[in-house]
Amino acid sequence: MTTHDSALMEKLIALTKRRGFVYQGSEIYGGLAGTWDLGPYGVALNNNIKSLWWRMFVEDREDVYGVDAAILMNPKAWEASGHVSGFADPMVECAKCKRRFRADHVEGPKCPECGGKLGEAGQFNMMFKTSIGASEDSSSVTYLRPETAGGMFVNFKNIVDSFHPKLPFGTAQIGKAFRNEIAPRDFLFRVREFEQMEIEYFVKPSAWKDLFEYWRGQMHDWITKVGIDSGKVHELEVPDGERAHYSLRTVDFEFDWPFGRKELYGLAYRTDYDLRNHEEFSAVDLKFTDEETGDRFWPHVIEPTFGLGRTLLAVLLSSYTEDELGGEKRTYLKLPKHLAPVKAAVFPLLKNKPQLVEKAREVYAMLKKEIPQIEWDDNGNIGKRYRRQDEIGTPYCITIDFDTLENNTVTVRDRDSGEQERVAIGELISKLKA
Ligand code: ATP
Repeated sequence: MTTHDSALMEKLIALTKRRGFVYQGSEIYGGLAGTWDLGPYGVALNNNIKSLWWRMFVEDREDVYGVDAAILMNPKAWEASGHVSGFADPMVECAKCKRRFRADHVEGPKCPECGGKLGEAGQFNMMFKTSIGASEDSSSVTYLRPETAGGMFVNFKNIVDSFHPKLPFGTAQIGKAFRNEIAPRDFLFRVREFEQMEIEYFVKPSAWKDLFEYWRGQMHDWITKVGIDSGKVHELEVPDGERAHYSLRTVDFEFDWPFGRKELYGLAYRTDYDLRNHEEFSAVDLKFTDEETGDRFWPHVIEPTFGLGRTLLAVLLSSYTEDELGGEKRTYLKLPKHLAPVKAAVFPLLKNKPQLVEKAREVYAMLKKEIPQIEWDDNGNIGKRYRRQDEIGTPYCITIDFDTLENNTVTVRDRDSGEQERVAIGELISKLKA
């Protein structure tokens, strides 16, 4: 059993707001359920996660091709993929208060809010509908994509024609997806607008089992690399009847969130479902020709999918730490150094000593040329600055003091241990990059 820790969630949400990571969407208008906005440190952390992912799954490999497809697609693509008819959650409505719930989120026949009688479960399509152009008749209907995968399947032929890859090969995409969730909740966990990082890996039909195992391993490697507490990640073999309509096998990677054990990522075997259907609906041949045998067939697909918002939340939860330093309680984000929004903060010991400020500005400018994510901080006393930098996860704080003026050394304070050491200015860059 997972313990529910709502106090931890409240503390984390408060920290992310106070320190400029995550704000409620449209907050001054009372918010818009299921949307969140990122502030400066949230964007920085999000971008660092995306770059790490892109590096690991696209740049460091020879067999995965990056794409960035349009969010709006020809609606036929969503008919072909089965989303128009099948991307629905079972929903129940309370006869008394008219509130709606996901049928699999309520237990028993009574409304969890008012105790009224719940009606029969109906299907609720989760795609956001919109219309293209000036008229709003049925011919202009399209959808905001509910997953990034579609944009990769419709580009399958383009990638094959441009790059002539051999099987197995993949396409990767990072981008927004939209789902009209019945009950958005739990901060970044279940929202209506979110980012996904997805790979469609095309394989020979006979090779799917081995390559499924391979991607399972890759997903665990990623979880470690991005600093998610792997002790809290558990695999779940999704049983028949509970998988998405296109999947013959799915392993969910669940995380022990403070609100329970729930999905973080998914790994699905989509068979040739998508290419076969897109060929049927578009009337364009999407088969692949095996160079050696001349066989023509639809490759099968292994799909590792990673929600970015859930990654951000899992990384924040895994790094959120409370301890005691020098007899004082403190909170800090023990983020992996390569993900920290700010790599180091530079302070003059005193704000009102021009010599110190000038020297500190010199050090700051020198570092910033090499490492852009360096921050200047001269607000409040040193203790306050440390607390602020700890809360945003800055690995090092560099203080320019009177000794610096004598011998060109500075103090470097380590976020995790709180220990300080003197380092020559000339050695700072290699220390920060280590
Ligand atoms: P759930 O069962 O939690 O609704 P799902 O099985 O529908 O999720 P997938 O269709 O597999 O999710 O979507 C792929 C990934 O996108 C998920 O593993 C998750 O990380 C992310 N994701 C899906 N829905 C949401 C959402 N509403 N808010 C945030 N992230 C989401």
